[in-house]
Amino acid sequence: MRKCLIASSNVNKAREVQEILKDFNFEVLTTHDVEEELEVIEDADSFTGNALLKAKAYHERYPEYYILADDSGLMIEALDGRPGIYSARYGGDLSYPEKFKLIWSELAETGVDPNEWRAKFVCAIAWCEPGVSLSGEVDARVFQGEMHGIILDEARGENGFGYDPIFYLPEFGKTNAEISAEEKNKISHRGRALSELQKYLKN
Ligand code: IMP
Repeated sequence: MRKCLIASSNVNKAREVQEILKDFNFEVLTTHDVEEELEVIEDADSFTGNALLKAKAYHERYPEYYILADDSGLMIEALDGRPGIYSARYGGDLSYPEKFKLIWSELAETGVDPNEWRAKFVCAIAWCEPGVSLSGEVDARVFQGEMHGIILDEARGENGFGYDPIFYLPEFGKTNAEISAEEKNKISHRGRALSELQKYLKN
């Protein structure tokens, strides 16, 4: 069986990836299963750039595995795409309820109607195959997925993580934190990027 190392210690991500890769004869490993978790400085200016930085660092350290690295975040239209690549650390060391307040106050300052607080989650997945190509370059591919919604002016729901309680899905009449994990995986940015990877593996 082929081995795929995901550049993350997040078991939920690993489960989601395992589900997608099971038909392709992959065993999924996380950073818990290898000697060391690398500290990669994610200083690129895009999700794609950061996913590639992580994937290449892991590929160099563990060339025997297929490597999957992802980077994702929330982009709010009226805030010119913020928090974007800074989603995890937006506002510094704030808790998520505090991050929500910061976002609401920034949105209020824009004067944009709350019904128009459009946003999207974006996910970039970088995929490296074992070994090096003939040119000596790392053989890496990137797959992307998006999920569109509206920022709600209150937090709702207990499921999910991060910005899910304020991310409203008009087609469900619910926030990301009010739908189930199964429902979210089908339509999420990460689910969609993974399904692009799945299409690539099928070919
Ligand atoms: P990561 O790239 O998966 O580590 O995600 C970076 C940050 O983006 C997270 O810490 C969250 O703040 C935000 N984020 C990414 N995906 C989601 C999601 O599905 N729901 C809520 N927040 C998310």
